[in-house]
Amino acid sequence: MSLYLRQTLLPEIGTKGQELLRSSKVLIVGVGGLGCPAALYLAGAGVGTLGLIDDDKVSLSNLHRQILFTHADVGASKAVVAQKRLAAFNPTLRVEAITERLTAANTLNLMQDFDLVIDGTDNFPAKFLINDGAAKLEIPVVYGAISQFEGQVAVFSAKRHACYRCFRPKPPLHYVPNCAEAGVLGSVAGLVGTLQATEALKCLLSAHTPSLCPQFGKLYIVNTKTMEFSAFQISKNRECPVCSRPPDQIVIKEETMDHCSTGCQCSQLASKQEIDTEALLRDDYFKRCQLIDVRTQEEWDEGHIASALHWPLSRIEGGELPPFASDKPRILYCRSGGRSSRALTLLAEKGIKDVSHLKQGFLSWKGPVAL
Ligand SMILES: [Zn+2]
Repeated sequence: MSLYLRQTLLPEIGTKGQELLRSSKVLIVGVGGLGCPAALYLAGAGVGTLGLIDDDKVSLSNLHRQILFTHADVGASKAVVAQKRLAAFNPTLRVEAITERLTAANTLNLMQDFDLVIDGTDNFPAKFLINDGAAKLEIPVVYGAISQFEGQVAVFSAKRHACYRCFRPKPPLHYVPNCAEAGVLGSVAGLVGTLQATEALKCLLSAHTPSLCPQFGKLYIVNTKTMEFSAFQISKNRECPVCSRPPDQIVIKEETMDHCSTGCQCSQLASKQEIDTEALLRDDYFKRCQLIDVRTQEEWDEGHIASALHWPLSRIEGGELPPFASDKPRILYCRSGGRSSRALTLLAEKGIKDVSHLKQGFLSWKGPVAL
């Protein structure tokens, strides 16, 4: 037990906690920037069984953040290489490599033998499969996400608390770039993956030490540029398409991102989060969007885009978020683009990024106006 001495010295863990970890089984989906550090710390902590799901192969551009891999591993299966590394790192553990992609058909089979799942994926369809599978099996999920200099972590346990779909019922209609497209600082992936491992260990140990219970349904956001940490509680949505149902009625199905290639202009919008009046008017695109006017009451009364919702910037600054539609691209506008851009920044700080704004504001609008 000297391997875990520094850990068992903690009164919250002790020999009993260590035994609990030894009998625990954690599944890591995605052995990438998040999964690598999470797996290393879980193996170091003595979690008895680790499952690693990844159908991808190691590439050179992975190495700056996927710390289980070296140059010699390029081209090899991530799950298989990670299994070997972790087994060498802690030979007392059982590590299982699963070189399959998570699908609606295999999710429950692959997840059912585990006590907890770590979401180390970088795409929405996989995040929804993990959430829905875990809700059906009534096991917790430690969610993580990274982009550029920012990271997010949350622990979801759908049985009693909110799930990921309470926060995001469907994939965003706007295209959200992943690390391959938007870039990420390797150490941010390390930070988030390490936080995920910590939350997973607390979650497992809380059966022995209730004070280690994580804050379920709370989304933590870290911006490493400003070193600001923020958090907000996700309430359980009574109309959540998944966790409002009894587990036996939860159906596992794959979410598609089809809207990104079928006339939606999301890929153009994604990088800049801005749209111009011509793009909004093309094929009446604005009619399929949720438009939110963030100007003052006086400006609104003088004329606004016909289908828009009025939600002044002051309300967003006060922490009141507009009732965003979950099934439409969301586009904010003000007079000339300044206030709507500020609103985007405030929303991004709360982790809400799939929102755009009308670049030159209402001044540039050439479509129908209501009074
Ligand atoms: Zn839910």
